[in-house]
Amino acid sequence: PTSHFALPGWKPGSKSGLARRGLMLVLSSPSGAGKTTLSRRLLALDDRITMSVSVTTRPPRPGEVDGKDYFFIDAPAFGKLRDEGDLLEHATVFGNLYGTPRRAVEDALSAGRDVLFDIDWQGTQQLDQSAQQDLVKVFLLPPSAADLEARLRSRAQDSDEVVRQRMSKASDEISHFTEYDYILINQDIEDSLSKLVAILQAERLKRRRLTGLASFVQSLRDAL
Ligand code: 5GP
Repeated sequence: PTSHFALPGWKPGSKSGLARRGLMLVLSSPSGAGKTTLSRRLLALDDRITMSVSVTTRPPRPGEVDGKDYFFIDAPAFGKLRDEGDLLEHATVFGNLYGTPRRAVEDALSAGRDVLFDIDWQGTQQLDQSAQQDLVKVFLLPPSAADLEARLRSRAQDSDEVVRQRMSKASDEISHFTEYDYILINQDIEDSLSKLVAILQAERLKRRRLTGLASFVQSLRDAL
């Protein structure tokens, strides 16, 4: 999907004709590395990026809101979305089905917004097949195994069994770090946030995302 919107300082349709393709920012990490907090902080800071809300068959955790954290649906409803091609990507994680609704992403991009994805490596690989040019892949690592375990345990919603399951999965997930463009070691949330903002800002300035650049430069040169 392609979208166009003005760079800071240039209004859409202004004489410069400069615009930018929207980008898809993927943030993956083992469960408990702080991805949800980091995503929320980024969304609060930057109104040009919007969250992709996934569908899942996982039951809601206390405090999770349907339509905000996830769309909580049952397996038949998930199967229908998948079979009708309404999911951009989908995967099974910890025995539950997760997927990215296609329509919301395409609508956001065409409205000129960047989109943030909290999805695992399986989903990231699928987006890499279909939308490589628009994809920016960031992997968040915990500073240590002990830190990861502590964060999982402090998330009291999950049972001991779930915590154990997620710890053993973390090692598999981490092995996919080579498939990502950027690595953040989440020692300090403020530090990770400022690095993530820097990544986003730099990626927004990539020449290949800019449209109308050749004629803008030509008009500059004509005036020189
Ligand atoms: P949780 O159940 O803790 O919210 O998420 C478990 C894992 O599923 C996380 O690694 C999260 O990034 C991943 N996940 C959430 N939504 C999606 C999705 O739509 N697609 C894929 N592939 N993974 C997802």
